[in-house]
Amino acid sequence: MKTASKPELFRKLPSVDELTHGTALIQLSSQEGEVAVTDAARAVLARLREEIAAGRFDEAGVNLAVSGLDRAIERQLRESLTYSLRPVINATGVILHTNLGRAPLAPTALDHIRETAAHYSNLEFDVNTGERGKRDVHVDRLFQKLLSEPLNRGGAGLARANSGSAQQVFTIVVNNNAAAVLLALNSLAEGGEVIVSRGELVEIGGSFRIPDVMMKSNAILREVGTTNRTRIADYEKAITEKTRLLLRVHRSNFEITGFTEQPKLEQLIELGKKHDVPLMEDLGSGALFDLRSIGVSGEPGVLDSLNAGVDVVTYSGDKLLGGPQAGLISGRHDLVQRMRSNSLFRALRVDKLTYAALEATLLAYVKHDHDGIPTLRMMRTPKDEIGKRAETIAKTIPQGDLSVEVIDAESVIGGGSAPSATLPTRALALTSNKRTADQLATRLRQSNPPVIARVEDGRVILDLRTVFPEQDEALQHTLAEITAE
Ligand SMILES: *Cc1c(COP(=O)(O)O)cnc(C)c1O
Repeated sequence: MKTASKPELFRKLPSVDELTHGTALIQLSSQEGEVAVTDAARAVLARLREEIAAGRFDEAGVNLAVSGLDRAIERQLRESLTYSLRPVINATGVILHTNLGRAPLAPTALDHIRETAAHYSNLEFDVNTGERGKRDVHVDRLFQKLLSEPLNRGGAGLARANSGSAQQVFTIVVNNNAAAVLLALNSLAEGGEVIVSRGELVEIGGSFRIPDVMMKSNAILREVGTTNRTRIADYEKAITEKTRLLLRVHRSNFEITGFTEQPKLEQLIELGKKHDVPLMEDLGSGALFDLRSIGVSGEPGVLDSLNAGVDVVTYSGDKLLGGPQAGLISGRHDLVQRMRSNSLFRALRVDKLTYAALEATLLAYVKHDHDGIPTLRMMRTPKDEIGKRAETIAKTIPQGDLSVEVIDAESVIGGGSAPSATLPTRALALTSNKRTADQLATRLRQSNPPVIARVEDGRVILDLRTVFPEQDEALQHTLAEITAE
């Protein structure tokens, strides 16, 4: 039998016009619009032509493809008309998962976004005077409240007053913490030197490297000490008339243990005062909530640093704070004011959606409604409560391919908080007779909504700490489906 040549195969394909005027697609056009259907038909035909050109189709293959064109076009159309960005079920137990969008927002934040963003708002308008206002005011008033509140523990709240720096703290908002660090360095140290310990020259996921940001800010990095040991004397020796700033960086994603030394924050504060050089701390996560109350230590709070006398702190809005992506700069009024009047600030500023989400999140803190903030609620959920939900789900999985056990495990706070910050939890451990653990994890990701799990010791682990209780049913359904396959 003579095989069909490529031109012969191409001639078998209908034209876009013929396709879109066929009965099946006319109906689709009336629902979704002719333009969208024509686009989808073009895309499907183009793909088919590529396949033929590459020699991947014989005559029978082309015939089969042509007979399924209507369906392929409809599928193409559905795909192109649905969102690419969509919700997933985070069963990893990592609360602030950078790849999964970090902090889910509080319902009040969503309401506030909807309410203000769907209409005009007083974003930069003073309703009382009828004059132009500043967008900062909406959140600065709440930061004032939160950051001037005396600490309830150990009398640390007195430290700021005693150290003679009881100035009002001023806060501005930029796009993210990377932007905050860039703006702060450029405003406070352009052309001058910034002293940083070698042990703190970190890279945070997604290519945020302190030396690179320093270069872009036009400040000169003055490294002191060694990777594992830096003494206060190393900082002091490096101070010259060119020094503009002392910088402390929270190590975030790793710990140096063993033979280490790092000056105490108090020593750095004292040194800064002695030489009249401001001290800035890149906190990264920057908690506004006392993590010691959930058994996590070593994670510096924004208040801890400010009360101790750090001049400026930078931190993220969507890490431990549990709000929208943002970079927050809080500190001495004169220093933050210099950043505010830097033209870079205009380029890095955030929009009304962020202000709305941030205002609602901060208001939850002001009201001490910590459970109103999803990530804080997840951190505070007791292990037993998670265990009960896990047992319920385990019981409802029908007999089939999956074996399930409820085990002790650890959730991770993540998001650049103390790397050792873990919380005891209960998790579902799954094994399948037909699939390896990796295959099972892949299958879970292919469900709708996708379920993201972790694989450990040949088992798939589902930690319900990061699964919203209202998602339990969808998870149950997915597991029932998989075990029946
Ligand atoms: C996360 C982090 C950053 C970057 O913050 P983004 O908000 O992601 O830009 C910078 N510094 C430290 C110490 C961090 O932990």
